[in-house]
Formats: sequence, C-alpha cells, structure tokens
Amino acid sequence: MERKVRVRFAPSPTGPLHIGGVRTALYNYLFAKKHNGDFLLRIEDTDQNRFVPGAEEYIMESLRWCGINWDEGVGKNGPYGPYRQSERKDLYRQYAFRLIEKGFAYFAFDTTEELDDMRKRLEAEKGNAQYDAHTRGKMRNSLTLSQLETQQLLDEGATYVIRFKMPENEDIAMEDLIRGSVKVNSGQLDDKVLFKSDGMPTYHLANVVDDYLMDISHVIRGEEWLPSLPLHVMLYRAFDWHDKMPQFAHLPLLLKPDGNGKLSKRDGDRLGFPVFPLMWNDPKSGEVSSGYRESGYFADAFVNMLALLGWNPGNDQEIFSLDELVQEFSLERVGKSGSKFDPAKARWFNHQYLLKKDDGEVAELFNLILKDKGIFEEKQRVVKVVSLVKERVHFIHEIWDQAAFFFYAPESYDQKTIDKKWKPDTSEILTNLTKILASVDDFSVSNLDHILHDFMEMNEVPAGKLMIALRLSLVGAGMGPDLKEIMTFLGRDETIHRIINAVNTINS
Ligand code: GLU
Repeated sequence: MERKVRVRFAPSPTGPLHIGGVRTALYNYLFAKKHNGDFLLRIEDTDQNRFVPGAEEYIMESLRWCGINWDEGVGKNGPYGPYRQSERKDLYRQYAFRLIEKGFAYFAFDTTEELDDMRKRLEAEKGNAQYDAHTRGKMRNSLTLSQLETQQLLDEGATYVIRFKMPENEDIAMEDLIRGSVKVNSGQLDDKVLFKSDGMPTYHLANVVDDYLMDISHVIRGEEWLPSLPLHVMLYRAFDWHDKMPQFAHLPLLLKPDGNGKLSKRDGDRLGFPVFPLMWNDPKSGEVSSGYRESGYFADAFVNMLALLGWNPGNDQEIFSLDELVQEFSLERVGKSGSKFDPAKARWFNHQYLLKKDDGEVAELFNLILKDKGIFEEKQRVVKVVSLVKERVHFIHEIWDQAAFFFYAPESYDQKTIDKKWKPDTSEILTNLTKILASVDDFSVSNLDHILHDFMEMNEVPAGKLMIALRLSLVGAGMGPDLKEIMTFLGRDETIHRIINAVNTINS
C-alpha cells in the first residue's frame, strides 16, 4: 500500500518567520493537498536560549493570513500530539538512551574548558578540531571511562551530554528529491550532541524522533538543513527505522535581489521591501520590521508570488489561485538553484490581483481610507472612482494619490503645465466652454463627448489645447483618467465651478 502523504512545517520560535520560511510552509502545504495528505505544524522549541516570546503566535498568524491551514498541529491538536516539542520533552530522553544501549551514542562529560583545550590543541596541530572518531578517544566520555566510572558520574549527577557516535569511515548515500543522489563520508562528520545537559534534546534528535513518531512521509525543508541530512539518515538506521524513513527534499535558497547571497532577516527594510509576512515588533530590541500585510499586499498575491520563487509551472502562466497551485504543484518542478527575490515583481503581482478583484471589493477597502479622511461617499461613486484609477496603482493605499481630485477641488495648479500650455486665449476658450456646459443636462460620458467635439470644431480649438487646460482646471495637474469620466463624476455644477476657479486663480 502506498504510504499516506504526511508532511510538516517545523519552525523554531526564535523570531519572526522569514518569507523563505513561509515558502517552505507553502510548498509543504501544496504538496500535502495535491496528494490528499496531511499538513502538520510542529513547533521546535527545544532550544530555550533562543526562544522569543510572541514568535509562535506570529508564525501561526502568518500562516493563517496566507490561507496555509494545517490539519494537525499546535493550536489544532490531532492524534500525534502534542505538537510543541517542549511538551514532548520527557519522550526524547528514552530515545537517546536507546541509542546508547545499542552502541550508537555515548555520554560525554567534558567540561567547557576541556572542550576548549581540545580545540586549541587540535588547531595548533592543524588538525580538524571536532569531536569525532579521531578525538573522542582522548576525551572524557563513556567510551574512554570504565563502566563503573561512568555510572559513578551519572549517580553523582555530573553534567553530561549524549553524543552520536559517528562511524570513522562509512559512505552515507542519500537521495534528495530535488538534488538527486548525495554522498558523504562519515569521516567528515562530527559526533553531534543529541541530548543536552539541560535535559532537552537537540534539534537533530527531536526532529528525527518526531518525524518518525508523527509518521512523516516527506521532509520538505530549506537547503540550510542539507548538511544535517547524513546525521539524520544515520539516526534512522541506528533506530532501525529505515522502512519509515521519510523522503527528503531540500529547497533552494531565496537570494537577495542582486543574487549575492541569501536573503536574510537583516536585509528587511535595508533593501526597501519587507522580508517578513507580517509586521514584527521585536520584544527585546523594540525594533519594528515591516510586513507584507501591513504594506498593503493581498495575501493571495503574496502567496502567488512566493510560489513562483523556486517552482515553475512549466509554461508561462503566472497568476495562480491557491487551489490552482495545489493542482499544479510538483517537487519535480522545483529548481536546484537559488531564486532571486524581485521586489518589483512582488508589486506587479499585487497590481494584477488588484485588477482581478471585483471593483466593489476594492471600493470597500478604499472606503476605509476615505472614511479616515472624513469623506463619506456613496458606494457606487467610490466603485466608479476605483474602476477609473486602478490601472495606475499597485496598492489600495495608492488610490488616494490618484483620486484625491474626485473628492476635493484643486487648491493649486501645476506650474509647469501652466507655463507650457496655458496660452493667452486659454481663459477665454474655457469661459466660453462653461457657457455651453451650463445648458447641458445630460452629463453622461457619451453626450460630453459630442459636446466637447462640437465645441472644438466650432471654435477651431485643437483637442490637445482644450483637453490640457480642462484637465488642469479639474484635476490641478496633467494626470488622471479620461476627462469626460471625471466630468460625469463631478457633475455639471462642480465642473463649471472648477473651471471658473482655475481661470480666476491662474490669471490672477
Ligand atoms: N526547526 C527547524 C527550523 O527551524 C526545522 C528544520 C526541518 O524542517 O527539519 O527550520
């Protein structure tokens, strides 16, 4: 029987989730849903020194914002819980001891000074300064001490760690779904600590034990964990869990926009774009980092953008809903090389989603900004404004800059346009136009089109000349959507009022 797909996202709550982490969660989610499997959220909080208050809540809120819902895990429970490693604390010790019994691990009693001494000695000899098959025989551990001495130390409550006994010379062959076959000789690897003196497991032990106990079928994680893979494979072997060993897929890194290195948490606002999904207020430093949500990104645009940073659909389609991503996603189409983060492309995605959204929905969001400014406008009119300017913006909050003139008459007029385009006869032309407009009842776009057309023909005014002066009068600048649309929106009285105002102001 084929194994049920069960994948997990296993962040450590050491700070806000970086967008690379969100992408890892997303790929896990897509893979799970594509294969009708389960997606788990496990919190790896065994490193108490690095624990940051609020980080776990931040991670969950980020995933929820993105619509990356987990089937099992922290905050949800499920048959394999608890899903927070600190709550599973007591379980790991027995697995560490099991490895000692089987001869795959040992107690090490070395003090910090002894470890430092070893490092200095070996570095002086230009040797490889690591705790491994070559050095463990010279250190204070249950391999060099007698059974009695070891037992005595344990009975006395001496501080110890448990280390994995990495074989001296063994080829470890591994398969990675993205990288293919990878081989490493165990001689290059050190005897990693599995269990710490504070009674907590290290990442390696807890991660492997939990993946096994939670019946994880595929481990999809960042490339930075690839160097840990040989140890993890060795642990599966040592425990005799080979038949339950998950398949591994290490995702390529997200790179800085210039391709020079990994996009790091510190890049944040330094490069002018957020690297976190949500705003983060650091509890220690008080430093605030911007987030995609607070910067005005739509969650679906953000998710779409992230999905394509590392995965490609095999054609040139770029816009995918979450459901479409689930349908199309496959690990085979995840590239091996890092993906450069492109902030302009991120904005482009948001623009596409803004265009795709129903004008009514965008209007509701824009209405919140209007209300904040004390402007209460009929819904239909706000919808109209949105439909006229959305082409020009990437974010809801940019609409105001493009649309303020719909709500306020201009208070000043762009001097450059005046200097270039306001001719001695412009005032007279505009004044004549107001006289015509005063008797027009039908202020629809199509009727205004006729009126303006006839006016230009009868007065022999070139279109460019009239339109620029008219735009300056109504908008205050040389920008904005179709003039007739603006006139229709403003209505006859306001249009005439603004033209007269402009003539008076500019002439004075
Ligand atoms: N706790 C690890 C992290 O913070 C999990 C790595 C893994 O998925 O194995 O990324």
